[in-house]
Amino acid sequence: MSDSTTIMWFRQDLRLRDNPALREACRGSNVIAVYIYDDINPGSHEMGAASKWWLHHSLASLNSSLDNKLHILKGDPAVIIDQLIKKFDANEVVWNRCYEPWQVKRDKQIKSLLKNNDIAVQSFNGSLLWEPWEIMNKAGSPYKVFTPYYRKGCLQAHEPRAVVDAPRHYSYLYDADCDSGLNSLALLPDIKWYSQFSNRWQPGEEGAAKNLSHFLSEPIQSYKEARDVPDKKGTSFLSPHLHFGEISAHQVWYATLNKFNGSIDNPDVDSYLSELGWREFSHYLLYHFPSLPEKNFNSKFNQFHWRNKSQDLTDWQNGMTGVPMVDAGMRELWQTGYMHNRVRMIVGSYLVKNLMTHWHQGEAWFWDCLLDADLAANSASWQWVAGSGADASPFFRIFNPVTQGEKFDPKGAYVREYCPELKDLPDKYIHKPWEAPEHILRDAGITLGKDYPHPLVDLKESRQAALDAYSAAKDAH
Ligand code: FAD
Repeated sequence: MSDSTTIMWFRQDLRLRDNPALREACRGSNVIAVYIYDDINPGSHEMGAASKWWLHHSLASLNSSLDNKLHILKGDPAVIIDQLIKKFDANEVVWNRCYEPWQVKRDKQIKSLLKNNDIAVQSFNGSLLWEPWEIMNKAGSPYKVFTPYYRKGCLQAHEPRAVVDAPRHYSYLYDADCDSGLNSLALLPDIKWYSQFSNRWQPGEEGAAKNLSHFLSEPIQSYKEARDVPDKKGTSFLSPHLHFGEISAHQVWYATLNKFNGSIDNPDVDSYLSELGWREFSHYLLYHFPSLPEKNFNSKFNQFHWRNKSQDLTDWQNGMTGVPMVDAGMRELWQTGYMHNRVRMIVGSYLVKNLMTHWHQGEAWFWDCLLDADLAANSASWQWVAGSGADASPFFRIFNPVTQGEKFDPKGAYVREYCPELKDLPDKYIHKPWEAPEHILRDAGITLGKDYPHPLVDLKESRQAALDAYSAAKDAH
């Protein structure tokens, strides 16, 4: 047994492979593995219910990979780490970096406390391909537009660091008195709406590896086109795994490139890697602009007159707006903890623009219901959809959920899956049942207002009202 003892503080890196901090901890040291559920730090955003479900299962999986030697605790990490140091006579603490503003602040404070107490401390890059402070424009300021950030900044800066193997030699120390156990975190929500989640998802490192391997076996070959078709399952389904760090962006990046002999030239590969680039960009924006989850990036929007009608929000949340593409998306979210990216944009645009409801409301609902809820990606994406963000889709580009449906779900397969009451409608009306003649509705067994709602708002009129409100906000600025 070594006489040095290192605390490995797991956070959003719930894996053994490509875990630089763990690899360092296991280099000739005894290791204390700990996860601390930290919901008390100022600025921390309490996890949503779906994320808690995921975390519960992910921790169970990590604990099993560590031969049940993971110490699971809840509270202030500074206090808990100090207690563990004393209990195990540890002389070093290591972790992989997290990038949310409150985490950066907390970690800096803990680092300096440890250093003052003569405890060695090291942090590593486990999650981002490019550290946010590495990529700056020519003027030395942060980029605000994705394409130059990614193509000129990231791709020309340096290659992402190489993937590291899982530690081969390790000695984990464990003391049951220092482990409150997974159930003490009480992560599983009381309402059991999540009972279907495990049919579709396997939280943990093995589940992540399976999704990557399946994606590279076939869907990657047509990713660029298929990624927009919601019923096709043409994407990698790695977002919750990446959020909790059950797989790293580095593993995904290099596995994809290796499959294509290291070349980024293939359009499907380029398109997929650039989505990882969007993930980086969201974290980059949040790091450099910490108020992203709360404040409009573009202050013009501060004058916008939101309607914020509470019944509109409830109908949107329940998938009962009377617009099939929107309702299918909202029901997919509720049933599976996930929503297809194209549909996220459609439901987001509908909420913010047609219903004139503040993007914060959509952001909050997604935060609670998405298994991949991620502060950076969620706030950057909602601001993008609203038109208030960095490099946002302009406000006047309002997604029409009918034409979007006709383009990306032409046979209505996605709508029929999540809105089964519409399944017998002909393709022509599947995205606009309100235009169907009475006999067609009757043949399909639908009475509007009874089996399926009338549309909450007229799409054309509500679009115009949003544009007018936007012009007024711009003029008032
Ligand atoms: P793939 O298409 O296989 O992409 C691979 C990976 O790239 C994803 O796993 C994800 O990590 C990253 N990625 C892809 N698109 C984006 C994007 N636009 N922004 C940032 N990263 C991206 N993604 C989240 O991870 N968490 C969120 O909370 C989140 N909220 C969103 C809210 C809205 C309103 C919108 C429009 C998008 C949001 N996204 C969010 C981005 C995107 O929808 C999901 O990352 C994607 O659908 C996940 O599916 P996938 O893993 O199969 O993606």
